[in-house]
Amino acid sequence: MPGKVYFVGAGPGDPKLITLRGKELLEQADVVVYAGSLVNPVVLEYAGKGADKYDSAQLTLEQIAGIITRAAREGRRVVRLASGDPSIYGAVEEMSDALKAAGIDFEVVPGVSSFSAAAAALQCELTVPDLVQTVILTRVEGRTKMPDREQLEDLAKHGCTLALFLSAALARRVQEKLLTAYPAETPVAVVYKASWPDQKIIRGELKDLADLMRKAKIAMTAMIIVGRCLTARGHKSRLYDKTFSHAHRKASIS
Ligand code: SAH
Repeated sequence: MPGKVYFVGAGPGDPKLITLRGKELLEQADVVVYAGSLVNPVVLEYAGKGADKYDSAQLTLEQIAGIITRAAREGRRVVRLASGDPSIYGAVEEMSDALKAAGIDFEVVPGVSSFSAAAAALQCELTVPDLVQTVILTRVEGRTKMPDREQLEDLAKHGCTLALFLSAALARRVQEKLLTAYPAETPVAVVYKASWPDQKIIRGELKDLADLMRKAKIAMTAMIIVGRCLTARGHKSRLYDKTFSHAHRKASIS
């Protein structure tokens, strides 16, 4: 009987922010392949002492696929542990292609993404009624090219909330590209290592983003949030408005 592969979201860092399902799968795993650059080693402690553990940061895609498919063929339970949620910059697609080609069954277990953990640290709602109802999860172009129409200048035209992954080392470029469409005073916040013990938060305005990050020495493992949601006050959702009926509650005043 071939084993099964589980893509599990480890969450942003705090070991309490993995799902119960993710923790259970780690406890039962024979093999764990984790993204060592971002997964908190404390989360790995949920895996049993007997489990084989591999840090994928030091491996190529072919090597990772080799370890995973071999173990699954031997009937072992494999957990591919991704930081945050596997569906976001989690390299799931390329790996699931290899599994499909090898006829190996797999399942994906979601996780708390770092953009959610950053919003929590900032105590901020990213979708504020009447102000902004859209969040774009993206990154600035670096060595990885962006597809057509997904350059930051294009996305910035929407003026909505932006959550930028993989962009901390390119803050100057982020700032320049966003200033083509966002006002210079647009609020920004950077959360370094959201939910880790050494989490750091900086806040400011878009025109100062790169300088603020340089002064704080933040160049990796950071989420950049941009938009007016960060300083919103006094916006009310219709969901709890007493004059508004919906499927779960009738209006008490009309
Ligand atoms: N799948 C992950 C993202 C992986 S890409 C998720 O859902 O969060 C790696 C990028 O995620 C980093 O460059 C950084 O921008 C962000 N990131 C991951 N963990 C983070 C954390 N604890 N705090 C802030 N940003 C984090």
